[in-house]
Amino acid sequence: MRFFNLNTFKEYSIIFWIVVITFLSFSTYSIYERSKIDNANQIKSAIKNIYLKKVINEITKNLEPRYTTFNYISKAGDTHQNIINKLNIKKAEKKKLLDVILKEKSLKVLKINQKFTFKFDELLEDKIIEFKIETDRKNEILFVKNKANIFISKKIKKNFTKKLVYKETIINESLYNSALNLSIKPNVIIEFARLYGFQVDFQRDIWKNDSFQIIYEEFINDENKVVDTGEIIFANLNLQNTDLQLYKYEYDKNKIDYFDENGKSIRKTLMKTPINGARLSSSYGKRKHPILGYTKMHTGTDFAAPMGTPIMASGDGKVTKAGWCGGGGNCVKIKHNSTYQTVYAHMSKFGKGIKKGARVKQGQIIGYVGSTGMSTGPHLHYEVIENGKKINSQKLKLPSGKILKGDERRNFEITKIKIDVLKSNLISKIN
Ligand SMILES: [Zn+2]
Repeated sequence: MRFFNLNTFKEYSIIFWIVVITFLSFSTYSIYERSKIDNANQIKSAIKNIYLKKVINEITKNLEPRYTTFNYISKAGDTHQNIINKLNIKKAEKKKLLDVILKEKSLKVLKINQKFTFKFDELLEDKIIEFKIETDRKNEILFVKNKANIFISKKIKKNFTKKLVYKETIINESLYNSALNLSIKPNVIIEFARLYGFQVDFQRDIWKNDSFQIIYEEFINDENKVVDTGEIIFANLNLQNTDLQLYKYEYDKNKIDYFDENGKSIRKTLMKTPINGARLSSSYGKRKHPILGYTKMHTGTDFAAPMGTPIMASGDGKVTKAGWCGGGGNCVKIKHNSTYQTVYAHMSKFGKGIKKGARVKQGQIIGYVGSTGMSTGPHLHYEVIENGKKINSQKLKLPSGKILKGDERRNFEITKIKIDVLKSNLISKIN
């Protein structure tokens, strides 16, 4: 007998399998056809079956996400009750939620813009598994259901990242609007204006095309939203091409103040004696006028000094007059802020660059002692005007303007360099 040739076997085996598959498919098809009608009836009755219904429900339920969240931000007129009523849960569960909320002291009063987040487990009878309510931008109360089905509350401080932002702009309309256009938060703008209030009158000193730069802190939450602002680190207000810079500096461990680039506090006081080497010759008050001869109110303080002695600006400000004042002779008037002005009279000549509109720094020479106008001899007549009223400069009580010296000054210089480097980095990120 001849053994099967391997190739022959392969040939036959293909035919064999074709036959087998054809047979199988044919028989399966005929079985299916026969049972089709029976099956339809079976399915119909099965659907009526309550147990299967439950199974189907369960399946469709699982197609929907099991855990869902509902977010809501409270509006005017909302109550905790009507917020809870928005939830698709049973009445008894609503009552339970309201009770736990009202137990929480910090939630007694519902504020506008409070954020609510409810988490549902759709498979549970009582669906809410946890929820949280913002008490303010930095704090929220989280309620989590424990194993005994009771909500336990927990105060949570939100996660913030501090970011330093740099903004700059040319002032086109008001400082306030220009800052708002840069999305600087109002509280930062107010602080900015407060810091400059010692040296700038915002009503009159800001001109079109003046500009400012600012670096301040912003607190960003997990959703990359600005939730709060922190301190101003640096600012520069450029008024008519004069830079008024301020740097935040921490000294004496926890004192924070702002200093200009020379380490002088921006909380400026006015100098009581804006002249060196002078003698107070006539004080503020009623006196017999040396020339007119009758008793007249002396609305300033006189300092006798040799002709040509330099006279200093007693505070930072803007020159509103540098010219002839009649009886006052050559005089300079400086507006320091919206409250204070000073006047210097009888000058022999004006300081370099001192003219109407010029910005001056405290201590800057604005003129020299003379005897112009109604005067009996070389002296400075100095006046301080507070809210439009002449007051006694020698009784002036203003916060003392700190000047950083020694180690403090050295530390300040380091801080200043760091801030300047930070500023260049932030600017390079913009451009
Ligand atoms: Zn006088």
